[in-house]
Amino acid sequence: MSASRHPALSATDPELASHIAAEEVLQAETLRLIPSENYVSAAVLEASGTVLQNKYSEGYPGRRYYEGQQNIDRVEALAIERAKGLFGVDHANVQPYSGSPANLAVYLAFAQPGDTVMGMALPMGGHLTHGWGVSATGSWFRGVQYGVRATADPETNGLIDYDAVRELALAERPKLIFCGGTALPRTIDFAAFAEIAREAGSVLVADVAHIAGLIAGGAHPSPAGHVDVISTTTHKTLRGPRGAMLMCREEHAKAIDKAVFPGLQGGPHNQTTAGIAVALHEAAQPSFVRYAHAVVANAKALAAALLERGFDLVSGGTDNHLILIDLTGKEVPGKVAAKALDRAGIVVNYNTVPFDPRKPFDPSGIRIGTPSLTSRGLSTEHMPLVADWITRAVDAAAKQDETALKAIRAEVADLMAAFPAPGLPLS
Ligand SMILES: *Cc1c(COP(=O)(O)O)cnc(C)c1O
Repeated sequence: MSASRHPALSATDPELASHIAAEEVLQAETLRLIPSENYVSAAVLEASGTVLQNKYSEGYPGRRYYEGQQNIDRVEALAIERAKGLFGVDHANVQPYSGSPANLAVYLAFAQPGDTVMGMALPMGGHLTHGWGVSATGSWFRGVQYGVRATADPETNGLIDYDAVRELALAERPKLIFCGGTALPRTIDFAAFAEIAREAGSVLVADVAHIAGLIAGGAHPSPAGHVDVISTTTHKTLRGPRGAMLMCREEHAKAIDKAVFPGLQGGPHNQTTAGIAVALHEAAQPSFVRYAHAVVANAKALAAALLERGFDLVSGGTDNHLILIDLTGKEVPGKVAAKALDRAGIVVNYNTVPFDPRKPFDPSGIRIGTPSLTSRGLSTEHMPLVADWITRAVDAAAKQDETALKAIRAEVADLMAAFPAPGLPLS
């Protein structure tokens, strides 16, 4: 099947082509629950694999260091205008190679090595690039970190403690404050962070990599108007190619652009810029508003079904696309569960939970999300079945019952065949 889909590749490099063909089958047949992944449309795939690949375009539209940019300028200008329109911002830079370099550009724009920066701790749900020790951002800068509450009250347990964030910010006066993360199942209060950043005299960055698509579709409040800089990847809920964007008010536009190029990067990846432009066009359609709300509805339904089946969820549920299951009370830890689920055709990642007693490479949780399954058209009525599969797979992991895992894998493949994924040739 891949030979007809990628004829030149199959002829030139059949070995590599076979790996891609196998990946197409894997993505078609499995239930992909990794909350940072998605299926891009065929249109985004096409735009990302074009002759735009062949161009060098250092600089920005109308201000390039290379000739022959007539068409590239139009492509990038289109992506910029669409980003500004969709997110309601003054300025957008669509050139960062990915989320991590985008965040590094923010440091370059606003801080000096050794300055204090503040973000959520990685094991609490933050991102490496928010000043965590093993990241360059935590060794070149002085990272101070906030977390979530540990209380007996289920109403506040696992939520960001804004009083503690404020206290830390006022004590440390960081140059930068990051809000947002990779394992946060609850709504971020951008107005509360803005008030804290104003008091502390800090530049506030909303890293919405995970929730950009929900924001675009109106299913999560927008940071626009509250924060100095919005950083986002384009490939998670936004459903674009792997890339990133930085958005800001006009007053920070020059600093952000200078930091991305020439501060940190050389030539932009024009084929990615084109894919981003297409994804932003798709995200501006009414169908994407329905998609974003369906992602959240599915996550809430899945969380409810998991709670009913005796699972413990960090913060007791979800407001967005993401659920963090705490397996502390179960017989198997996160990694064992994740690997068993993988054998059952359900792809998740093991993850630390706040105050995890276990090590990061062998933690207590698994992280799941609904962006991909919603892109395939699954709805809330399917979520009890998904919760059943997860329950059965975790039980089978405890009993080392490979037959049970195989049976689940076949059931999953059956349902997936009825809900073909966007952009995939098979189903
Ligand atoms: C995914 C993510 C990033 C990093 O993006 P990469 O493209 O993997 O470098 C940064 N911040 C947050 C909050 C993320 O979720």
